[in-house]
Order: sequence, then structure tokens, then C-alpha cells
Amino acid sequence: MSSRASGARPRSKKLVLAVIDSLKPEQLDRAVAAGRAPTLAKLLEHGTYVRDCVSTFPSVTPVAAATIATGVGPDEHRIPSMNWYHRGEERYVEYGSSFPASRAHGVFRSLFDTVYNMNMAHLARGTKTVFEHLDDAGLRTAGTTYLIYRGRHRHEPSGASMYRRVAEAAQFRHPVWGPEEFFYADLFDSRDTGCTASLGMPGQRDRHSACVGAHLVENDLFDFLLFSLPDNDTFSHRYGPAESVQSIAGADRALEQLMEPAGGPDEFLSEHAVVVMSDHSQTPVEARVNLADVLSPWRLLAPADVAPDEAEVAICPAARSAMVYALDPNSRERTTADLVEDLSDVDGIDLVCWRLDGEAALRSSKGELRFAPGGDLEDGRGGTWSVEGSTAALGLRTEDGRVRSGAYPDALGRLWSALSCVQSGNVLLSATPGYEFVDWGGADHVPGGSHGSLHADDSEGVLIMCGVGPDSAEQRPDWSLRDVTPMILEHFGVPS
Ligand SMILES: [Zn+2]
Repeated sequence: MSSRASGARPRSKKLVLAVIDSLKPEQLDRAVAAGRAPTLAKLLEHGTYVRDCVSTFPSVTPVAAATIATGVGPDEHRIPSMNWYHRGEERYVEYGSSFPASRAHGVFRSLFDTVYNMNMAHLARGTKTVFEHLDDAGLRTAGTTYLIYRGRHRHEPSGASMYRRVAEAAQFRHPVWGPEEFFYADLFDSRDTGCTASLGMPGQRDRHSACVGAHLVENDLFDFLLFSLPDNDTFSHRYGPAESVQSIAGADRALEQLMEPAGGPDEFLSEHAVVVMSDHSQTPVEARVNLADVLSPWRLLAPADVAPDEAEVAICPAARSAMVYALDPNSRERTTADLVEDLSDVDGIDLVCWRLDGEAALRSSKGELRFAPGGDLEDGRGGTWSVEGSTAALGLRTEDGRVRSGAYPDALGRLWSALSCVQSGNVLLSATPGYEFVDWGGADHVPGGSHGSLHADDSEGVLIMCGVGPDSAEQRPDWSLRDVTPMILEHFGVPS
């Protein structure tokens, strides 16, 4: 660990960014109405509540986490999905869609990609994280287990952990660069807090964050804390978003525990600004699409392929989104066009998107359209577009020089960012509501909940700003995950 560049304490309030994975606005409202989320109710009472903060596309956690932590989309941060094909290394990258999927790609390799490579290799080097910005400004940063953690402080793997030998056997011996105070499952802990992560098992992770967070508050160890609460996602996948009041109550207890050393929420809020947000939402799933079946005429690249040179196509399912890669650069355009035909009119596939002559092309059952940045139409975030073809394909309304879609929020901006990411597939897919793509391990969340698509029901999440940001949600239209890092930097007076 290195020491702070400057010992000066900031004038701004300390700030906690709490990310509750898959927090659905309707379910938060139900939890609050039922008295199951008193701490979140307190934050809503004192803060500004946005119920439609738009996620990334695909609306899956690694992509969304990278956008929350950097303020830019996948075109710039370069984390394209939960599962993707690494063209440079000619292999799949799997961040843990499910345990069977990790097993298919190799459990240790999958963990190694998630823990080390996502931050140290895959996340664009030139894109600063919120931790790097604040570390450079001499602020005291801290984080509990979160997919994106890259900062300026070097951390050796935890020496005290009872799981140390397991971790060493799996080659988790390397140091990383993270926030000043860094806690990641049982693999890294920058100080002894007395908290254990139980190997990061689902259902135990919020408790670990709460225990670590309370220790950091009690000892006044941060100016900025990224407080990660992932358990709601697991619960909502399993039982469906309609049941998630129970897991939201669990997240609420973690927030309560965090605030307790200060004397409770009121005292805590006098010294801290708090942002609570989702990375994406969830929607019920009742049916599955198996891409390997849909594209069975092609020679598909298998995770441990014995003859990878013979493969024509790589497929990367990620919950309610998927990417397909044409592997041979010499026939890429032809293969992409053929794949688009094969993927059109398939039950469960809503949108088929690809790049064509420098533009974006998209097909749905309602028609085909093409779009590109820089035309006469302005979206809700100030982006300008030219659109040609069937606007019904994306439910687009165009009037008075404005372009909007209710069904697919920030549709053009999100699709363009995904299609422009150098690591993305040649064809991107968004599932029909109610459907999910089966992952590489044969697993899915039917009949529970899922996310990943461009649709509003997966994409619109919670953003509560308390002691930071504007006084009303209407001061800015079309909130997005991209707004969070800039807002935090502004709070501390750090240039972005
Ligand atoms: Zn999830």
C-alpha cells in the first residue's frame, strides 16, 4: 500500500456509493411501503429519487459495473458482456454467468478472468475509474467486493485468510491495484476488520460488505466508499423480481449496519452524502433460447475446442443478451450477413443488431432500420442521430427533432456504444421479454428473473441521491449509469 499524496482533508462530505445489484424500482417501492426497508425509506425521504436510471446494453453486471465506475459506455471501457470472445487471445472469456458455465470454460480460468483480467487487462487502461480519479486527488478511497476495483494502491493477496491455501492453489498469488482500503471476498483485505467473506458465497456477501463498511465508518477510514450489495441479484434470479422484497430488506439491513457506528441514519447523513443505485433491473423469464441449436449448421467454437481452427463462429450468451462472432476475418462480412438471416424470426430473439458500412443496422419483427451518430435527431442525453428505415423496429418516436423510445430507453446511444466496442461480437442480440439465452453450462434462470436486454423492464433501475446531485429528478432528463462517476467527481471538486 502506498500512502496518500496529500494529507489534506476534503471540505466535502464523505460519500458512500451503494450499488444494490438488480434493484427494481417497483420492488423498492413495495419494500418501503411494507416497512421492510426503513433505511432506504429514510434516504428516499431526504434524497432525490430517479426510478428510471438507464443501464448499459447489454444490461449485465460486468458492463454496467464498468460504466458505473468510469462514467463511460462499453465503447470506451471495453468490457463488452458477461461472456465474450477475446479475438487477440482466440478464446472465450467467462466472468461467471453460472457455476456450470464457469466449469465449461474452466473454473480457475473464469475466476482469474473475473478477479484479475477484468480490471488489469480487459478494462481499458486509458479510462480512469472513480477510484483512480479520487486517488490521484489525494482522497481516501475504499471499496468492498465489486467487479471493478482498479485504483492506485497496491495490494498483496490476504495473508490472514483461512482460504489462503485454496486461493494459492488456484494461483491467486498476484498483487493488484485497488482503492486505498480494499476488501475483495477473502482474497484481498487491506486491514484486519474481523470480517470474513465465507468465500464470497451468495447470501453472505451483503453481510461481508456491511461488516467491513461498519468497521471503516467506525474508524473514519474513507472519503469515498463503494459499498457493494450483490445478494439481491442472486435472490431475484432464483425467485423472480416480484419476490425480491426479502432480499431488498437484507440490503437495507446492511445499510443500517453501515450507518450504525455513526449513531444511525440521521447522524450518518450529517457527515456523508449517499448514492444508492441499481446496475440494472430484472424481469421474469419463462422460456429459453439455445443459440447453439439455432446456429447448429455452423461449426461453433466450443469452450475447450480440440480443433479451434475449424470453428467458423463463436457464440456468447449472457442472460437476456448474446453476441455472435464471425471468426474468419476474410469472410467476416459474408458470415455476418448470413448470421443475421439465421437469427431473424427466431422465437425469443427480439432485436438483431450489427454494423454495416459504418452505420448500425437493426432488425426486429417490426422491420429494419439503420442509424448513425451525427444527424438531425436529438436523443434525451444530447446525442444526435440520423435514422433511416422502420422506426417501429425500436419503438422510436421522432417529432420536433427529438428521438425517444419508451420500450427501449436510450436505445440508439446504448446500441451504438455496444456495437462500437472493439471486444463486442459482430452480431448482438436482445431477447424478447420473457425469454433468456441458455449459457455455456446449459444453465438459465427460468422460471425466475433475468436481465441483459435493451428493453425497459431489464434496463430501468433506481438512483437515489442524498446530499449530492440535483434537488429534483426533473432537473435532468434521461438519467443513466454514466452520470454517477461525473457526479461523484463534481461532489469532491475533482476534474473529470
Ligand atoms: Zn444478474
